[in-house]
Amino acid sequence: MSDQSSQPAADHRRLGRELDLFDTDPLIGAGLPYWLPAGAAVRHEVEEYIREVERRAGYRHVYSPVLGKRELYEISGHWAHYREDMFPPMELGGEQLVLRPSLCPHHAVIFRSRARSYRELPLRMAELGGMYRSERSGVLGGLTRVRSIQLNDAHIFCTLDQVAQEVRAALELIREAYRVLGIEASRYRLSLPGEGGKYVADPAMWRRAGELLSGVLDEAGIAYESVEGEAAFYGPKIDVQILDAAGREATLSTIQVDFHQPERFDLRYIGPDGARHRPVMVHRAVIGSVERAVAQLIERHEGAFPAWLAPVQLVALPVTDAQVPAAAALVEKCLAAGLRAELLLPEEGSLGARIRTARLVPYQAVIGAREAAEEALALRLRDGRRPGVLPVAEAVARIRAQVADRRSELWAEES
Ligand SMILES: [Zn+2]
Repeated sequence: MSDQSSQPAADHRRLGRELDLFDTDPLIGAGLPYWLPAGAAVRHEVEEYIREVERRAGYRHVYSPVLGKRELYEISGHWAHYREDMFPPMELGGEQLVLRPSLCPHHAVIFRSRARSYRELPLRMAELGGMYRSERSGVLGGLTRVRSIQLNDAHIFCTLDQVAQEVRAALELIREAYRVLGIEASRYRLSLPGEGGKYVADPAMWRRAGELLSGVLDEAGIAYESVEGEAAFYGPKIDVQILDAAGREATLSTIQVDFHQPERFDLRYIGPDGARHRPVMVHRAVIGSVERAVAQLIERHEGAFPAWLAPVQLVALPVTDAQVPAAAALVEKCLAAGLRAELLLPEEGSLGARIRTARLVPYQAVIGAREAAEEALALRLRDGRRPGVLPVAEAVARIRAQVADRRSELWAEES
């Protein structure tokens, strides 16, 4: 047996291979996974969900490039404080370009690109964007230790008076997302600076930012631990910790208060007094890296994703070849309704064998002679329940409603 036999049953690397969700290839490189269609479907749903809740919470999305000039990171402080984690610069036409290790500098520049008024604040800028970390090859694996990261990032530019409310709202957004996705926080951590030269020096700034974060946690009644040495180099943060299937802890979500980068980039807005003022930057990631979030979802649900996340939501099972046209028509109707559906033909095995093959698919539609004649289907749920024979139009509409509302339960009895 390979070393994979020591992985727990729910290890996302094992499930990722078994369920054709993602993989890696030595020719692409370690820590650079690619997503297969089934995994890409899950990831797409997660990303769309995040964009939707962010839009509703008043965020506006931008796109920015994954490269920037070395000078950009010298200004932000990444070059001085974070260079070990960055890929070496690329020389091009007398300039040095680097793969970005975070999105903050780009967003600070976007904020600075226009004259800003206090009326625009809090300005919530969000992006699901790529970033890169030069992790050592020895620690790479699956989706949790990668060199290429898609970050669910946002930066809120606001006044000092607005910080607490923005942190509170971001914390609420994280808790709501965990509820919908079925993720459980193992603990909350207030990450403060430790010894050593990695942190920018400004004791008053650290104290004030730390008090803002602990104040919001206290007020929300959230138990947390203060840990030294885990802060970002530019400011303290709230880390929301999760456990993987093997019980290892990792940070999924963060909220950070930053007085440093607004200074470095000389960010300003015009206040009600007509004078120029310095905004504060709140960095926050609701699900952190999309890779780590999906790894967590794979392990938590052991491949049996909630219907809205399932790579295939409905499988059509014609009992014999005579019902294949009716089953194919059902798949067409599902696709037209925005569902992910597939046909599993009689040549793939007995009905029982095909139901076992599709055991992770939330909705299994069996079509025999009677169902085909009546434009109906006999519905089975992944959990073994059988809602019975339903007209095709009704079944599709009800499944679509479950999925559109991102409900965790598979089926709602008619009210
Ligand atoms: Zn940031």
